[in-house]
Amino acid sequence: MSNEPMIVCENLVKIFQIADLEVLALQGLDLTVQRGELMGIVGVSGSGKSTLMNILGGLVRPSAGQVIVNGQSLLKMSNAALDRYRRTQVGFVWQQGARNLVPYLNARENVELPMMLAGFSAREMKQRAVDLLQMVGLSERQNHYLPELSGGEQARVAIAVALANAPALLLADEPTGELDTATAQTIYDAFRQLNTQLGQTILIVSHDPNIAHHVDRVMAIRDGKAASETRRNHRPSVPADQPDAAAETHPVFEELVVLDSAGRLQVPKAYREALGIGQRAAMELTEEGLLIRAVAEERGGEGGTAVPQPTSPTNPPSPTQTWRSRINRWLKRS
Ligand code: ADP
Ligand code: MG
Repeated sequence: MSNEPMIVCENLVKIFQIADLEVLALQGLDLTVQRGELMGIVGVSGSGKSTLMNILGGLVRPSAGQVIVNGQSLLKMSNAALDRYRRTQVGFVWQQGARNLVPYLNARENVELPMMLAGFSAREMKQRAVDLLQMVGLSERQNHYLPELSGGEQARVAIAVALANAPALLLADEPTGELDTATAQTIYDAFRQLNTQLGQTILIVSHDPNIAHHVDRVMAIRDGKAASETRRNHRPSVPADQPDAAAETHPVFEELVVLDSAGRLQVPKAYREALGIGQRAAMELTEEGLLIRAVAEERGGEGGTAVPQPTSPTNPPSPTQTWRSRINRWLKRS
């Protein structure tokens, strides 16, 4: 097994052209996913989640940038190679369970179908189908036809089908979108099981803000770019008022802002609104770190110059001067 990441996206751009209108679905997205990661992707509707999944699944071609999956660059691939990639390297789980399944086949036959097309022997096919259905918790349901299965069970059959060809990467686009919380939990359990037992790399798109509880890492997409990342750290924590209490481990969630390769970062809308930050802000290097501060914006819109809030009532320094002198002072100190 190689150590190279399963997915590397650099400055990934997707432009959809409808008549003479251009829609920028992905605007320079960076993402690296290691082999064996169970990762979530969140973002509001229209932020580019499905576009990213469809590109990774070989269903949509990117417009620019870099996208490498399992060592293969999808940007330069011929149509024939992309077809082969789609059939052998990725498994896809869609939101509507039925979209993944054939209604007149039972659960096991549904899982066997892609293997039949790939030329597995009958024995291999059956054994693998039985194993996969067991891993998603459906051993007892393998001979049931779709109408006899609940929505959650159908979704788990769909996951087993997506894995029939032993793809390197499993992609799921809102697999819990139409399910209640308890049923969604059984789906997350199935993903976790496949991740730990098979070491399967899995990417799950969700609008469920609680997804961080079910995966190792969550990337938030905003306007077609990676905006922030939430990681789960199992750290011992001791309540401040009980310093003698035994350290207990429970998940601690840490939301980190993501910087792109040029150092750009996104300031969340809620923060911008709360602080009255418009199109320009002052950035200062402080002992604590970077401080991003609102400035009094000059009226007149486009091209107007930002006026810094004067730090001294007389001769206010320009933002660049403030920033430079702060850095210089800080550099001298350290
Ligand atoms: P999400 O899955 O996060 O809701 P999408 O990736 O589906 O977002 O869409 C991102 C943007 O790209 C939206 O503005 C959407 O309208 C546009 N878009 C997605 N697919 C197409 C397409 N096939 N043709 C034109 N525009 C598209
Ligand atoms: Mg979508």
